[in-house]
Amino acid sequence: MSTDFGELTPGVFPSILKETNADYLTQPFWDAARQDRLVAPKCSNCGTFRLPPSAYCFNCQQRGIDWVELPGTATIYSFTIVRHPLHPDLAPICPYVSGVVELDGTQGAGARMLVNIIDVDVENVKIGDRVEIVFEHVNDEMSTPRFRPVR
Ligand SMILES: [Zn+2]
Repeated sequence: MSTDFGELTPGVFPSILKETNADYLTQPFWDAARQDRLVAPKCSNCGTFRLPPSAYCFNCQQRGIDWVELPGTATIYSFTIVRHPLHPDLAPICPYVSGVVELDGTQGAGARMLVNIIDVDVENVKIGDRVEIVFEHVNDEMSTPRFRPVR
């Protein structure tokens, strides 16, 4: 089987997806990503963040959504260091950090993202470390979000 992961960078999981396959619930996220902005859906009734987006609020069962721009900074909530490649051709990127980050601006109504954390010393990553979003512009449609230590 032939694969084409493109140019590989140690610590960076490649953007395998080239299309967002967005629908009405996710298009605003991808539109903002193309502009290097992080937005998240917030229930217009009760204020709960609904990330990933959902048709109905899990808290109050209403449909309304307000898209809120977030600062793009976050705190590492959990992480793992991936040392074994998911595919033999991905060996050059290992080890890399896959983590869950808690997004600033969503405290009390928490929104977290599962992301690749890049530009880090994988042996010294800690829960609680501060990170910021960075987008890789894959093409006109797709911009992949990742996080890196706050500079
Ligand atoms: Zn709600």
